[in-house]
Amino acid sequence: MSNRQKRFFLSEEEIPTQWYNIQADMVNKPLPPLNPATRQALKTEDLFPIFAEELCRQELDQEHAWIPIPEEVREMYKYYRSTPLVRAYGLEKALDTPAHIYFKNESVSPVGSHKLNSALPQAYYCKQQGITNVTTETGAGQWGTALSYAAKAFGLEAAVYQVKISYNQKPYRRSIMQTYGAQVTASPSMSTRAGKDILTREPNNQGSLGTAISEAIELALNTPNCRYTLGSVLSHVTLHQTIIGLEAEKQMEMAGEYPDIVIGCFGGGSNFGGISFPFMRHNILEGKQTRFIAAEPDSCPKLTRGIFQYDFGDVAGYTPLLPMFTLGHDFMPANIHAGGLRYHGAGVIVSQLLKDKYMEAMDIPQLETFDAGILFAQSEGLIPAPESCHAIAAAIREAKHCKETGEEKVILFNLSGHGLIDIPAYDQYLSGSLQNFQVTDEQVKANISKLDQII
Ligand SMILES: *Cc1c(COP(=O)(O)O)cnc(C)c1O
Repeated sequence: MSNRQKRFFLSEEEIPTQWYNIQADMVNKPLPPLNPATRQALKTEDLFPIFAEELCRQELDQEHAWIPIPEEVREMYKYYRSTPLVRAYGLEKALDTPAHIYFKNESVSPVGSHKLNSALPQAYYCKQQGITNVTTETGAGQWGTALSYAAKAFGLEAAVYQVKISYNQKPYRRSIMQTYGAQVTASPSMSTRAGKDILTREPNNQGSLGTAISEAIELALNTPNCRYTLGSVLSHVTLHQTIIGLEAEKQMEMAGEYPDIVIGCFGGGSNFGGISFPFMRHNILEGKQTRFIAAEPDSCPKLTRGIFQYDFGDVAGYTPLLPMFTLGHDFMPANIHAGGLRYHGAGVIVSQLLKDKYMEAMDIPQLETFDAGILFAQSEGLIPAPESCHAIAAAIREAKHCKETGEEKVILFNLSGHGLIDIPAYDQYLSGSLQNFQVTDEQVKANISKLDQII
């Protein structure tokens, strides 16, 4: 009993040297992104003005299953990787379940979430190409934080557009980005044409991810040696995140187990795909029967209640058309605390895999996610990010099911980040003022019906 091993680590040599590109092994490949003006499939070069060239190649690569991790990136990974795989004995005991529960703890990264796994290579490929400046948008601030640190690590200047309402309501995230040396601007701002247009029309506009994306892309297109970066949704982002699942595969082997169920919370799909795809390859190639569950908020249920269809990746309609599960690009999710999950669509790889039934999705009400977060904090000691609470809640549902059936299933979930900067959300929960925000079928239907006009 007392000798049970709780945490599993890899040595520096065992940290993976390649990322896994599931596109190469997929039976049905994702449909191509389309240029909205011509409806033609996008070519790699079409993306060069926006992203570093190597990232554009990775984005559309359906051929190479293994992509080498550059040595410089792997050296940076070594500052915090491998992240621990933890057997959640405390949570198992609290639930009195026969299930074996494991979690991969990505909250130990210097910025507190998995997002650094992609920020580092994105900054690296920019640097390697001679780019000097990177730009992005951030809502709650997790991605902006990761990019700010990664830019500094590779000697780039970072300009982050933060949605104005978050800029004012979440001052600590802004301070963290500024501490890493980034220039943070509340969006909409007077520094871009898009921002000026909005503010001229509406001086009190509080911003949205849509406005912040437009400003960041405009800056990238108009500034020599500047590129835009994105923290989720795109296929190259999920590719970088497979470091999570590749490590977990080796660590589960050290624990002498293989997961029956793999769970990740779901915003655009990068941490879910990151932990899942390395295991899913055994389902695709060898017929293994592992279940993969994406846990999404019931207030933003694109996987469980959206439709599969070409749609824009952003609210304003600037991006290519992407074949995705979507609620419609102008869907306005309720203001839940899991800011990283408030996105209308899903990445193209995950969308195809869901359509082909390689994975499932579960939608969870906000209060249940915080119930789960509190139980996890009290049984494992870690305070999870509100986003990660969705994965925990899904794991708890499955573990309770095991208790009913007496099955000793092995459950693995990803702890995508810690919640130490989200304490006001916990405060609200503890004071009883937190609520659920279900969307009605009518709302979903009304928003989706607008999509017919796109394609
Ligand atoms: C951004 C974020 C998410 C959601 O993004 P994915 O791309 O779906 O992983 C989840 N958890 C945390 C902690 C985040 O910062």
